[in-house]
Amino acid sequence: MSVADNLKKIQNSIPESVTLIAVSKTKPKEAIEEAYNAGQRIFGENKAQELKDKHAALPKDIEWHMIGRLQTNKVKYLAPYVRLIHSIDNERLIAEVDKQAKKNNRVIDVLIQVHIAREDSKTGFGFAEAYDIIKDNEFGAYENVNIRGFMGMGTLTSIETVLEEEFGKLNSLFQKCKSFKSDFDILSMGMSGDYHIALKNGSTMIRVGSSIFGARDYSNK
Ligand SMILES: *Cc1c(COP(=O)(O)O)cnc(C)c1O
Repeated sequence: MSVADNLKKIQNSIPESVTLIAVSKTKPKEAIEEAYNAGQRIFGENKAQELKDKHAALPKDIEWHMIGRLQTNKVKYLAPYVRLIHSIDNERLIAEVDKQAKKNNRVIDVLIQVHIAREDSKTGFGFAEAYDIIKDNEFGAYENVNIRGFMGMGTLTSIETVLEEEFGKLNSLFQKCKSFKSDFDILSMGMSGDYHIALKNGSTMIRVGSSIFGARDYSNK
């Protein structure tokens, strides 16, 4: 199946209210153009340099989302145009996003990444920390950043009950925190292997790569 067919199949299987991020990491410009020509405008990357290069080379009406771990010294490359940073996992990072957003006269939308998986390799704030950040407006001094919701990555497993529990817990936290902030409305959960479970558990934004573009090849990187 072509990229266009894959996109159509996924779009037709998810509610209209859910936003689909096409995760194009490691994929060439041509693959992104194919998705773009099929109508897709929202793309996600997990490396700042790659995102910057693709932004420069591709149509300017693309919405670029940063979904991977972000080093503070790379924020400046993305600050002029990035639409949403999903991966805020420490205060130094949000402080730097705020600083770079100010320089660009922008307010940048971000998500607080919450650690929901069993793997320690995955990053993010703990549940209690994430709750306090929103309830007590702990990052309120960063005026050029707007926290729009939470992001979580489930454990890499095919055991559905594990993912149900992880996504369910993050959704409960999200629902609780909504009452503290009016435009707190994005729950980014779900990838190719688990987005159907994430959607059953309240996800409003899914990040799908291999089901659209095919498996990634890291062999020559
Ligand atoms: C790579 C990646 C995805 C997409 O993964 P697929 O399994 O290819 O759909 C989603 N979210 C993050 C943070 C990623 O790094």
